[in-house]
Amino acid sequence: QAKQSGRAGYRFYNPDLDRRADEAYTIEARLKHVLKHGRLALHYQPVVDIGSGQLIGAEALVRIADNGGAPPGPATFIPIAEAAGLIGEIGDWVLREACRQHDAWLAEGLCVAIAINVSPLQFRQHDFAEKLGSILTDSGVDPTGLQLEITESTVMESIDEAIAILGRIKALGIKVALDDFGTGYSSLSRLSSLPLDKLKVDQSFVRNIESDQASRAVTEAIIALGRSLKLDVIGEGIESKDTLQYLQEHGCTQAQGYLFSQPLPASQFVQWHRQQHMH
Ligand code: C2E
Ligand code: MG
Ligand code: MG
Ligand code: MG
Repeated sequence: QAKQSGRAGYRFYNPDLDRRADEAYTIEARLKHVLKHGRLALHYQPVVDIGSGQLIGAEALVRIADNGGAPPGPATFIPIAEAAGLIGEIGDWVLREACRQHDAWLAEGLCVAIAINVSPLQFRQHDFAEKLGSILTDSGVDPTGLQLEITESTVMESIDEAIAILGRIKALGIKVALDDFGTGYSSLSRLSSLPLDKLKVDQSFVRNIESDQASRAVTEAIIALGRSLKLDVIGEGIESKDTLQYLQEHGCTQAQGYLFSQPLPASQFVQWHRQQHMH
């Protein structure tokens, strides 16, 4: 391979990497513009109790809401924001906006616990817990109205540090879920030392429950592990009734996915909730 590519330097030229660097640069510029002009939005995806079908909360998912063409999703722009040093600003905005929305819904008589995703870099900011505390105080939101979602890999990067940060977050009265669980090569023995409330089964397993025996085996093991650690276990990415039924039969208690609803702008979320009540 190297021989064929001729002179030494050519081996390292990869047009695909080049294109991705260009894209990242364009997205970074767009993010700066969006932040400057207040064009981020949160969409909310319902989380339901599998047993009763009742709404128990919503996951807030950040969106670019400018009027440039089809915006990239957070799976694309969050890592770029992290690399560009913009994640602190985005993360703060998400926290404040979720608090504001929680309050606005309460004023309408709707009590929705909002789960917020926290990026690894944000989680490890030296003053993250303090900042969280002052945002809660400023907004007057009851801490039980907010939850944080931290990915398994965020925590496992440095588990002792994570335990300390989680301790400070939990001292504020905020619940914490371990997101995308099953993909992060957790040390199972250390998992039990983390002060967690919920485990979210990674979508890559949920998606393949109906077609793949290995995904079923991993899902069942994750649910069993979560239950034995006395955690709520959430299945996410549920798109079919069969998948939901399977998860319920194996002890999963909470559910999220397109089967119930896509993430929705706040006003549509309220409409969705009202319609559910009428059925
Ligand atoms: P996540 O926290 O695991 O969020 C779940 C993702 O799965 C969301 O994608 C959601 O729209 C999508 N989803 C939900 N149900 C289904 C389903 O039934 N089928 C399929 N195919 N997908 C489903 P989204 O909104 O594009 O977010 C992607 C990731 O970006 C999130 O994964 C999270 O890691 C990150 N993210 C989103 N919002 C924020 C944020 O405010 N801050 C940070 N730091 N990260 C965020
Ligand atoms: Mg999440
Ligand atoms: Mg997830
Ligand atoms: Mg994810």
